[in-house]
Amino acid sequence: MNRWAYRTVLPTYRLLQRVKNATTRLIDPPVVVLLYHRVTDLPSDPDMLAVSPDNFHRHLAYLKDRFPVVRLEDDWSVLREPSVAITFDDGYADNVLEALPILDGVGVPATFFISTGNIGTDNEFWWDQLERILLRDVSLPASFSLMDRQYSRAWPTETMAQRQALYVDLNALAQKVETERLEYWLEQLSRWAGQENPGAGLNRSLTENELQRLARNPWATIGAHTVSHAALSALSEKQQRYEIFTSKAVLEEQTGTKINVFSYPFGNRKHYNRTSINLCREAGFVKSAANFPGQVHRWTDPYQLPRRIVRNWDLDTFVTNMKYWI
Ligand SMILES: [Zn+2]
Repeated sequence: MNRWAYRTVLPTYRLLQRVKNATTRLIDPPVVVLLYHRVTDLPSDPDMLAVSPDNFHRHLAYLKDRFPVVRLEDDWSVLREPSVAITFDDGYADNVLEALPILDGVGVPATFFISTGNIGTDNEFWWDQLERILLRDVSLPASFSLMDRQYSRAWPTETMAQRQALYVDLNALAQKVETERLEYWLEQLSRWAGQENPGAGLNRSLTENELQRLARNPWATIGAHTVSHAALSALSEKQQRYEIFTSKAVLEEQTGTKINVFSYPFGNRKHYNRTSINLCREAGFVKSAANFPGQVHRWTDPYQLPRRIVRNWDLDTFVTNMKYWI
């Protein structure tokens, strides 16, 4: 581009872009939906799911100061300025023990999407089992062979780097198969490792009592997140129907409230399909949250709301990301 273009065309273009963005924000202000999983301090967190209570408190104080923090289930077509919604996935016990007091203290609402299969049990989610078996400092056999009709394969497991590679591979494969097949893999892995199952410990889900406490809190909304946390796209329509409808029914029975929002496990576009969306509509959900980046606008499909994953960031990093997102 020549000098004339730099002096005139570019600034004009940028000015027009700014006018367009400002107009869009006025006429159709975006909502940014944040996705948290856990609020706690963990000794090991390979999937980066936990935000420390201190950082979470700073995030919320900043949000409350700068934006309307809206409820996911509300009608957003009436909003007149850029807004934020806070969500949690999975249903870990720390949601009540550590996140809820902070939300309550700052005074902002959040929606908690809960997988019902582990409620009131001492069972871990499969990714926590993988972490416990593979990534802790314990002795393991020199290689692991997975028996499966489609994904049979052997991995060396002598070094921590090799175990991490196995962890990453199994993590990816697990998102492609149905629940029973994954349980069979986890049984193989447990038997191979020869470890006693110590129970879920820090990784436990809510008890029934904690779920009810959460549901009673005026800042909290409960949403469904399937029973087993399987990727819906790996399931038949019948299995999807079971996962979606049963998680809703269980939560409604436990909390005595109507559950009208849902989030897809894993939530990327490859993890759910048209059938999942249709079943969510049929189940009576008003919105379903996905897990890919973006803003929610009036034209956004309410059954595929984009969300932004929040990591254990200090305030500066969080603010930098928020400015980029909104
Ligand atoms: Zn999840």
